[in-house]
Amino acid sequence: MAVTLSALSCVRRCIPYNHPAEGQGGRLLGCSTAAAFSAAVWQRSQPQTLPVLVPSLHYGCELWGMHSPSGAANSARTALQSLYDRYLRHICGVKYATPSAMLLEELGLSPLQVFWWRRTLEFWNRLAASPVGSLFHTILLDNLDDAFSVGRGARNFSGSIAACLQSIGQSMPVYSGIVPIIEVGTVVEALRLHLDGTHNYALHCPRAAPSVGIVACTYHHWFKPFSRHRRYFQLPVSGRRMQRFLQFRLASHKLPIVVGRFAGGQHVARANRVCTHCGGVAVADELHMVFECPALHPLRQQYASLFSTNTDTMRSFFAQQDHMRVFKFILSCLDFLQI
Ligand SMILES: [Zn+2]
Repeated sequence: MAVTLSALSCVRRCIPYNHPAEGQGGRLLGCSTAAAFSAAVWQRSQPQTLPVLVPSLHYGCELWGMHSPSGAANSARTALQSLYDRYLRHICGVKYATPSAMLLEELGLSPLQVFWWRRTLEFWNRLAASPVGSLFHTILLDNLDDAFSVGRGARNFSGSIAACLQSIGQSMPVYSGIVPIIEVGTVVEALRLHLDGTHNYALHCPRAAPSVGIVACTYHHWFKPFSRHRRYFQLPVSGRRMQRFLQFRLASHKLPIVVGRFAGGQHVARANRVCTHCGGVAVADELHMVFECPALHPLRQQYASLFSTNTDTMRSFFAQQDHMRVFKFILSCLDFLQI
């Protein structure tokens, strides 16, 4: 407590970081958590390992998750989030350019910052609710006093939390001599909105959208799940088969629309990324594969139960009840196209 509530504390002081194997992010995690994290990922590169990974990155976050909202501590947290994103991309087998928000949405996860803030604020509330006169309550009250008393303004634990809240348009109710309880749900919801930012995905369908942001736009219109509870990555299939499926949903496959996009110096204009299986005229994107390509019509007949008036859009097609059958249809298409 004495260490973590000091003005100098941050992630670097709270967790030993002398494990160089995973670069800066790994050093932040410390020996034990970095080892557990990397071993779990690299030995079993499957989305099912996520329940193991996420708690590793929360270790002790009550103490550094919101502390020192600027400078070195912020860089450290950003590095940790980058490390997390990198491992998630590795697990799913998707391109480095895959936007983090899209990846997290597909896996039903929140940004680490959401977890860190929630845990920190719940920790705060536990301290605030401890009996008046107890050690924990007294320490927090002193800390609060140092941060908000006229002439002091210490950049400590309380001051950091207040600054974080202010950065998303929230404020900490401060009353002299009383430790306030913070509405965690309200703050977390405001943080989610803040992190989502503003975008104009709704303005364009993927086939007419500008190139900048096209990957996120495609996911938003064609793949984003309606339900927060059902996710494809939970299907009981092998890691490699799941990777192929997730690559399709996350624009990391080998259909011409994506190959031409990431061809570097050989960049192909969108209109020229055509399907070679049905005449070389239609643009070979995900929609074309699922609904349009005549070459795949026999497969659609084989999976006829998936195609109805209720499933005639990409999002409704992927949202239908029988996830496993959709999964098998997509993999059958990819096999047929040999991609
Ligand atoms: Zn075609």
